[in-house]
Formats: sequence, C-alpha cells, structure tokens
Amino acid sequence: MLYPTIGLEMHAELLTQSKVFCTCSAAFGGEPNTRCCPVCSGMPGTLPVLNRRAVEYIVKAGYVLNCDISRFTKWDRKNYFYPDLPKAYQISQMPRPVCLGGYVDIVSEGEEKRIRINRIHLEEDAGKLIHDDASGETLADYNRCGIPLIEIVTEPDFHSAADVTAFVEKMRLLLQYAGICDGRMEQGSLRCDVNISLAEKGAKELGTRAEIKNINSVRAIGRAIEYEIYRQTELIENGEKVIQETRRFSDSTGETSAMRSKEDAQDYRYFPDPDIPPVIFTEEELEEIRLSIPEMPEKRKERYVSEYGISPADADTLINNRHVCLFFEEAAKAYDNPRNVANFILVELMRRINTGEADMDDLPFTAADLARLVELGDTDKINKSCCKDVLRTMLETGKKPDVICEEENLWIKEDLGAAEAVIDKILADNPKVVEQYRNGEQKVFGFLMGQANKQLKGAATPKAVKELLEKKLGS
Ligand SMILES: [Zn+2]
Repeated sequence: MLYPTIGLEMHAELLTQSKVFCTCSAAFGGEPNTRCCPVCSGMPGTLPVLNRRAVEYIVKAGYVLNCDISRFTKWDRKNYFYPDLPKAYQISQMPRPVCLGGYVDIVSEGEEKRIRINRIHLEEDAGKLIHDDASGETLADYNRCGIPLIEIVTEPDFHSAADVTAFVEKMRLLLQYAGICDGRMEQGSLRCDVNISLAEKGAKELGTRAEIKNINSVRAIGRAIEYEIYRQTELIENGEKVIQETRRFSDSTGETSAMRSKEDAQDYRYFPDPDIPPVIFTEEELEEIRLSIPEMPEKRKERYVSEYGISPADADTLINNRHVCLFFEEAAKAYDNPRNVANFILVELMRRINTGEADMDDLPFTAADLARLVELGDTDKINKSCCKDVLRTMLETGKKPDVICEEENLWIKEDLGAAEAVIDKILADNPKVVEQYRNGEQKVFGFLMGQANKQLKGAATPKAVKELLEKKLGS
C-alpha cells in the first residue's frame, strides 16, 4: 500500500513595525510601491541595517518551538533573478540559521504526534506580482520586499492531510500567542509549501516528491494534499513516474498543476552577505528574550481547567482564538468569577460572533463592560434572563451595561428591597386581613397583592411581589 510522506516549509511574516533591513513600514497592504526605499528596492550602493526586533522574534519562535538557538548566526545571499526581487538576490541564512532542531506536539485524528523541526531561519520577503489576465500584463508591487520572514522547515514527519492541517493550526496559534506573526493566511502573512511523496509502507527510500508552493489557507492545504495523494497514486498505479517538480494549487478546481520542473536543482550560489555582520548572542540577551515570551495557549488551558474549573472542551474553545482568550482574561480580571465569565463569552458572545452580529476585532465595548454585565446577572441586580438582551443593546449602541439597565428599568435588587419594606408595612397595617388569610381565606391574597402593586407603582414585577408576599405570609 502506498504511504504518503510530507514535509513543510512555512513562511511567517514577523509583526515588526519596520522592514528587516530598512525603516519602511512592514504593515500589510498600502498603495502599491509607496512603502519602499532604495534599500528594499535594491538600489546599488545602499547598505542594509539589520532590524533588532526581527532577530528577537525569530529567537522567540525558536524557544516556542523547542529549538536550539545558535549563539553565532550569519546572513547569506541567495542569488536568483525574478521580477518580484529587485536586488536579484534574497538575504537569507544558509549554513548558520538562528534556530536548529526543535519540535511541536500535535493531536491529529485523536492521536498525539510529535513533529520535528529541522531549522528556522530569518530572511526577507519578496515583492508581489499582480497578473492581469485581461490585458496580459504583470505589475510589480515592492511594498512587501524586505518584510522580515521566518522560514520554518519541518522534518518529513507528516503522513496525512489531517496531520498537516493540525500542525498548521497549532503553529498559527503559537506564533500568534508569542506575538511574532498575526497568522493571517488570507493576507499571506503565513504561507505553506508542502513536499509530498508516496512510497510503499516500510520502503527504505522515499518516492519522488512534488512541491506545492504558497498555499494560503488551512483548508486549501488539506485539499491540495488530498489531491496530490490521489494524483501520485494514480500515476504510480498506472506504472508512470512522479516527476520532481514545483506545482501550484488552484482553489477553484481543487487540483494542482505543474509550475516548473526541478530536474536540475537550482544553484543559488549562496555566499555570506558582506554588508551584514554576524550576530553573536550572549546568554543574558537570550534569557531576556526567553522571559519576554507570553504564556502559551497550552499553559493557559491548564490554568483554566485547574484554577478556574472550566471544562477542557470550553478551555480549548477559549484558547483556540487568541482574541477571545485575551478578552476573556481581561474580563476575568474585572470580575473575579472566571467560570461564569467564560460561560457567558462562550455561549452568548460567541453565538453573536458566529452569526456575524459581532466582530471580535471590533467590539463596541470593553472586556470590563462584559464582566460587569455577567456580575449584574450573577448578583441578581438584574434578571439573568435579561443579560442577553442587554448584551445585544451593548453591541448595537456600545452603551455601558449599567446605563442600559437604568434606561430600560431592569434593576431588580433595589426594587426588591423597596418592595419588601412596602409589603411589611401593608401587612402591619392590615392585621385582620393577614389573620383571615392564615385561617385559610385564600381570596384575600388578591387584596394584598393589589395593595402592594398599587403602592409600588410597578417598580417590581408582579411575580417578584407575589413571591415576597407568599414568603412573608409563610405560605
Ligand atoms: Zn525600504
């Protein structure tokens, strides 16, 4: 039986303010060719200066992915000509990358697996080519040139599309939590190249591999792998050969197609970049970077389960979206009942996010506001069943929960206190009626209710008045 073996190269754009060798903005987008300068557009005679933050970020990535950090690291020129690379070489790292070795544990189809990392190196991104099929023209946008990029190369430890998608999801989460990449695959800040080959299970040698370039969604990665397993299986079973080549995946057809053959492996003629000095880390510098890494999702999950008593499934849902997770932690700081806060976020807020009524990136209220709402319900300041309506109003108007409760007259507790005083007075003023009731004349209850409602002028719900009255009369 044919068995797939898959390896990955992941490219993650770092969340630095500026590019890796110049001070141009590293933000996504912008009017074409407005975020470039002589350095990143490759003018002769310019000198690149290494972005310290980019180096810090790759070291963070190394720690998060359990790598060895090289104490000595240097930069190389990878020479090739392509229109998206105006320098005609890319500054990258060949023999001395920042990170070596490492691993990530994943759960794929219910099974735990360890995926080994071969290396992580720092390099610069290329520009973007925009092909206009209608006019047959290609336009170049160099805004992306020089955005810092880390390339994470795995060992060929994957054997199914599920393994790979689980890994990519996990990596996205880890990089997001570490604060080094926004993980927005749709914007290309996280992209994947997949190497895949088939061989008989247990065979000593791997089959000929094909590489699928630049896949930019988790779903597309899964589909591309499924298709490639199918395509290579067909070829091999029909006695044909898999060609070593680079392929592209089309989201619309769900198929891969040949881009270029790799029969003559490209010679990039790497040599050390003479403009960028090597970096030598001291132990203190590395320790400082290591200590600046925020708490990772798994640790948070453990804490939620053991300290907050949140179920593992709910804790998973919280950590699987960093925005939701950080919002939850903020809210739990404002109101010390993390379990109820989590529950409200998972049930009420997530429902509205899933239906598109609310956008986690653009909520019109703060985490403390949401915490306050949960607290109002928990402490019977308002009826718990009102909380979801208040949440809706908060989403629509951005008003504070207390303001909404005031405007919509939702307060309970103060009214109940007042109701109690009024009822006590009515009972004290009508001792005969009370005696009649206690002797079994149920119909006088209506009279007492009427008195209470009249005097309270509707400030407490009839239901609450009835309950109070029954309690006082001991029935
Ligand atoms: Zn620049």
